[in-house]
Amino acid sequence: MSIPATIKTDILVIGGGAAGMAVSLAARRKGKRVLLAEHDIVLGGILNQCVHQGFGHAVFQEDLTGREYAARFIHEIENAGIMVCTGTAVLSVGVDRTALLSGPEGLYRVGFEQCVLAAGCLERTLESLNISGTRPAGVFTAGTAQQLMNRGGYGIGKQIVILGSGDIGQIMARQFRQAGLDVIAMIEQMDHAGGLARNRKECLEAFQIPLILKTTVDEILGCGRITGVMARDLESGRRYRISCDTLVTAVGLIPDRTLCRELATPEGALPKWLHLSGNCESVHDIVDSVTREAFALGDRL
Ligand SMILES: Cc1cc2nc3c(=O)[nH]c(=O)nc-3n(C[C@H](O)[C@H](O)[C@H](O)COP(=O)(O)OP(=O)(O)OC[C@H]3O[C@@H](n4cnc5c(N)ncnc54)[C@H](O)[C@@H]3O)c2cc1C
Repeated sequence: MSIPATIKTDILVIGGGAAGMAVSLAARRKGKRVLLAEHDIVLGGILNQCVHQGFGHAVFQEDLTGREYAARFIHEIENAGIMVCTGTAVLSVGVDRTALLSGPEGLYRVGFEQCVLAAGCLERTLESLNISGTRPAGVFTAGTAQQLMNRGGYGIGKQIVILGSGDIGQIMARQFRQAGLDVIAMIEQMDHAGGLARNRKECLEAFQIPLILKTTVDEILGCGRITGVMARDLESGRRYRISCDTLVTAVGLIPDRTLCRELATPEGALPKWLHLSGNCESVHDIVDSVTREAFALGDRL
């Protein structure tokens, strides 16, 4: 079935997180027609699940939560004359400069001059690690745990082991402790904790999270629900059991470029009309740099 081009726009922005919102605002200020498509039913992206402070130091000279930071841009977007399509997934982007969208009204096609992919990043999952064992309940990526707790209001478990000591793992460790959960261990393969110095101080040190270095998890134990993990000391090779009812993995993020995979040359070059922004371009620790770079890109379009 062929779906006719029903909407024409100057700029199609895919993803309504910090990057997509800033690109859209900047391009709109330059007089461009902008269509912003967001898969979720609200704008804000990952910011919506960040209930902790630490956002906006550079852009607003304030210490905001992720949600507060997002709200400032959402308010501006609503009054900027941007065509915002929430609850809408972009399914494909073609060389003919059209994209196929699936929204509440069904499928439709959008024709554009320039396209900005601001689709954020994916979390590395257990499948990308060499961990044996069954696949019981109680194993989550940090982003999923954060979403379940902060947007769904669900509990994820009581005795938690965290694999990986980067910013996201550390922020979640603090949140688990604040929620009264038992963080049994944070396990890290390097000889030091990852992440920003600020998070090491405010999360690991302030909440006395037990950090086990030069160690990994190589087996998940339990049927039905996880009952523990086998930790392996990477220097001595010694394996030992740590009992827990939840494993949270925070082992890295990968820019989500799924939509442009088929448009890139074998060397990875993209068509001139296709741009990457935010965590889709490279993983950013601080949202202020996402916003500033995205504003600069929107100005150039
Ligand atoms: C746990 C955590 C804690 C953080 N803490 C801090 C902090 O304290 N301070 C700080 O400054 N920064 C922090 N950051 C970093 C900052 O929040 C991010 O770098 C930034 O918000 C990323 O914005 P983005 O727009 O690139 O991606 P995202 O926010 O991930 O937005 C991408 C959007 O694209 C949408 N999308 C994807 N594919 C499609 C599609 N096909 N069609 C339509 N929509 C699509 C998604 O639904 C999503 O809304 C933190 C990040 C995380 C994950």
